[in-house]
Amino acid sequence: MKKNIDWENLGFGYIQTEKRYVSNFKDGAWDEGCITEDANIVMNECAGVLQYAQTIFEGMKAYTTEDGHIVVFRPDLNAQRMLDSAARLEMPQFPADRFVDAVEQVVKANEAYVPPYGSGATLYIRPYMFGINPVIGVKPADEYQFRIFTTPVGPYFKGGAKPLTICVSDFDRAAPHGTGHIKAGLNYAMSLHAIVTAHANGFDENMYLDSATRTKVEETGGANFLFVTKDNKIVTPKSHTILPSITRRSLMHVAEHYLGLEVEEREVFFDEVKDFAECGLCGTAAVISPVGKIVDHGKEICMPSGMEKMGPITQKLYDTLTGIQMGHLEAPEGWIHVIE
Ligand SMILES: *Cc1c(COP(=O)(O)O)cnc(C)c1O
Repeated sequence: MKKNIDWENLGFGYIQTEKRYVSNFKDGAWDEGCITEDANIVMNECAGVLQYAQTIFEGMKAYTTEDGHIVVFRPDLNAQRMLDSAARLEMPQFPADRFVDAVEQVVKANEAYVPPYGSGATLYIRPYMFGINPVIGVKPADEYQFRIFTTPVGPYFKGGAKPLTICVSDFDRAAPHGTGHIKAGLNYAMSLHAIVTAHANGFDENMYLDSATRTKVEETGGANFLFVTKDNKIVTPKSHTILPSITRRSLMHVAEHYLGLEVEEREVFFDEVKDFAECGLCGTAAVISPVGKIVDHGKEICMPSGMEKMGPITQKLYDTLTGIQMGHLEAPEGWIHVIE
């Protein structure tokens, strides 16, 4: 029995469901893990996560395809990315097969919250891991908790995708040999002031440039860039300090193998942006959000695709990837993970 939720009008907020997954790491090993009903975490005042922000996370979604299956998109890539994040923050590895199994368990346990096909809503899945034992001298924790909760979220674009206006930020997101490439809470804590400032100035998002030279495009606070050239080539910035978005990597594959477009991952200089035809932001939540205008300290770059709708190539990419996700188009091997 599905929950009685107005799926079409759901927002993007936390709605507590009944079940979540938890596994504890202690004495050098993970326990077997289980589904629990307790949404609260009790920890010591000196827990590593509270003092030194030793925490990482992932984000993906479960949804219902046209033929009624509950599926998750490429969870093996989230598992691998979490291993990379854990290694960088000196946290233990939660094995990839156990990660995927835990995702299955938690989605099954929350089946009543998986939105029906056609609603546009999804069940957002949030795996995360943090240091939980007391740590006062700066060092990695010895004990960790891995958890996954889920929360139903509404369609990202209600009444069509409106292009965003973004600004070139005066703040930096990632240092050259820092942590920009991992999904860690610390990258978000330090982005809050930048996004609040951008919103106060009337912008939807920040465009971060590389912090070493401030000449190259990196990403926004939580999404990778895709650009379309005037001759329909797809270009995405290459950098060691960008978070490797699974959506962006999937869209690049779709562009090349489904749409027959040329794709390029390379350094993108900010000076080139004015010459692109379309710009989009890629991430799990929206798949692609079109960007209509980029403002660099008062200087406006208006994308030829305008402020009314997605550009034509962005729209094709969006339609093709969401078509694959929903089962209308054949998916590459392993992309659609069927839960039941
Ligand atoms: C999560 C995230 C993305 C998007 O990644 P997806 O795997 O596509 O959801 C992009 N940039 C940053 C900084 C992120 O944290």
